[in-house]
Amino acid sequence: MTHSGRCYCGDIQFEFEEPIHSQILCHCRECRYLSGGEPNASIVISEDTFTVTQGAFKTFARSDLSEPRVRYFCGNCGTHICVKSPPRPGMLVLKIGTLDDHSWFRPQAAIFCVDKQPFHQIPADVPSFDKTPPPK
Ligand SMILES: [Zn+2]
Ligand SMILES: [Zn+2]
Repeated sequence: MTHSGRCYCGDIQFEFEEPIHSQILCHCRECRYLSGGEPNASIVISEDTFTVTQGAFKTFARSDLSEPRVRYFCGNCGTHICVKSPPRPGMLVLKIGTLDDHSWFRPQAAIFCVDKQPFHQIPADVPSFDKTPPPK
C-alpha cells in the first residue's frame, strides 16, 4: 500500500510503501522541540520505499554529537518530516502528522519515557520503555 504526505506549505510532497516496521510515541527531550511539547508520533519505514515526488529537503544534523541524527525538513515552512538515525541504517523515522491520512496510526510503544513529563498521558494499552524496547 502506498501512503502520501506533504509539508505544511506543500512545497515538499512524498510517498512511501509499506511495510511500516513500528509505530511509536517518543517522549525524549529532543522530540519535544519538534512536536511542540507532546510525545512525537512517528512510524519507522524502509528508506528505499520513500520517494520525494515534489521539492527538495533541507537537512540538519548537530555538529556537537559524534553520531547525530539527520533531520529532513521543508526550508520554506519548516515542517519536520523525517529523521535518519545512525543506529538504524536503511530506516527512516517519519512524523505521522505529515501524512495525508494518519487516522490509522496506533502506537505500539511509548519510548524514552525516562524523559516523560507529568502532563504526558500514555494510553493504557501501550507498553512503555525507559529508552527503547529490548531487541527481539
Ligand atoms: Zn513546506
Ligand atoms: Zn524522541
